[in-house]
Amino acid sequence: MRYRRSVRVAGGKLVASGGHEMHAATFLRSRRMVFESELRLDPAEWRRIVVHELFHFAWVRLGNHARRGWHELLCAEFAAGAKGELGWSAEWRKERLSLLRLSARTRLARDYACESFCDSAAWLYAGLDGHEEFTLPARWRKPRRLWFIQHLGDRAVPL
Ligand SMILES: [Zn+2]
Repeated sequence: MRYRRSVRVAGGKLVASGGHEMHAATFLRSRRMVFESELRLDPAEWRRIVVHELFHFAWVRLGNHARRGWHELLCAEFAAGAKGELGWSAEWRKERLSLLRLSARTRLARDYACESFCDSAAWLYAGLDGHEEFTLPARWRKPRRLWFIQHLGDRAVPL
């Protein structure tokens, strides 16, 4: 884990200027996470972002069966017209998807599945009461919570 004054990424690499500015970036192969320094001033937001980034490592180790299950859960939500998400990272991708593209597992759909998994983990495990980016209605949060309990156990899940 490292901190930088700003985190900018272009083409999968950190850059000094240009690119996309983010709170944090994770590089799975080199097992590195880089966070924007300002996050240290906001412990709740720090926890949310750190849990999100850590779960990028969990996603790649979940296995195809569990990843497919998560994808199916998202398809069911989407088909039922569920709006909102549990973080901006998933939400902006969701807004650009259709059910057809989600079902077809396009690149954007796969990125969305991964980001919604990490955002859901942050919602569940970072210990926040609420956040402006938690826009997914409660009735859709419940199945996600159950999915995490089913796949990762219930010891870390607040009751
Ligand atoms: Zn992410």
